[in-house]
Amino acid sequence: CGIIGCVGREDETLDVLVHGLSKLEYRGYDSAGVALSGDRVDVCKKSGKIEDLKGALEPRSIGGAAGIGHTRWSTHGPPTDANAHPHLDCSGDVAVVHNGIIENYQSLRDELVSAGHTFKSDTDTEVVPHLVEDALVDGADNEAAVREAISRLEGSYAVAVVVSGDDTIYAARNDSPLVLGIDESEARSPSEDSSGRSPRESNDERGPAYYLASDVPAFRDFTDRVVYLADGEFATLSADGWRVSDVDGNTVDKDVDTVDWDP
Ligand code: GLU
Repeated sequence: CGIIGCVGREDETLDVLVHGLSKLEYRGYDSAGVALSGDRVDVCKKSGKIEDLKGALEPRSIGGAAGIGHTRWSTHGPPTDANAHPHLDCSGDVAVVHNGIIENYQSLRDELVSAGHTFKSDTDTEVVPHLVEDALVDGADNEAAVREAISRLEGSYAVAVVVSGDDTIYAARNDSPLVLGIDESEARSPSEDSSGRSPRESNDERGPAYYLASDVPAFRDFTDRVVYLADGEFATLSADGWRVSDVDGNTVDKDVDTVDWDP
C-alpha cells in the first residue's frame, strides 16, 4: 500500500502520480486510484493492478495542479472499485487517501450518518472526507478543516487530502510513514543561459515541485532532497512552498536530507 502526491508540475501531475504508484507496487496492493484538484476534484480509482487504473484513465482527460494517488491494501471492506481510494465527501469537493487503520471509524461513521452524511464505501477511511466537509460547513478554512478532521482520528494513518479550487496538498501521519520530496532546482535567468533557449525550453528552469509519498522511490526520479515527517506532524504543499507544523499549528523546523542512492 502507498501514497504519492505532487504539486507544481501542472500538466504532468497525473503522469507523476501514476509513475509514483508503479514505484510503490513492491509494497503490495489490491486497488489504485488518483485525485486531481482543479476547479473541481476529479477522481479515478479501480480495484486490481495499476494497469487497470491506466485503462480507466485512458479515455478521460483529468488534470489539476495538485494531485494525490493511492495503492490500497484492504483492511476494511473488500477490494472493489467503490472501496478503492481516493474517497470523497458528499459534495465531491474533498478527496482523501489513507494508509493504515482508523480504530474509531465506526463511532465517527455513526455520528456522521446521524448528521445526514451518505457513505459510498465500507472503508474506515471514508469518515475522513466527511469530517473535513463538516468542518468546512462550520466555516473553517481548508487547512483548519483538515486539521480538525485529523484531530478526531484514533489509530494509524498516513493521510493526504485535496480540496477543489485549492492547489494545496494537506497531509498528516501517525504510525504510518510519509516523506516529502523537495525539487527547488533554481531557475536561471535568460542571460545566464548560453544555449540560446528560452527558459521554458530547459528542464532546469522549471519552477519548484513538491512531492509526498510513503517511501522515497515514489519520487526519487524527480528529486533526491527529502523531509521525513514524524508522528503527529502536519504538512502543506503547494507550488509556493512547503511547511511542516505540529498539532497546534506551530511551524516545525525540519532538516532537508539528501538521499545518497540513485534512482
Ligand atoms: N484501512 C484502509 C482501507 O481498508 C486503508 C488500507 C491501506 O492501508 O491501504 O481502505
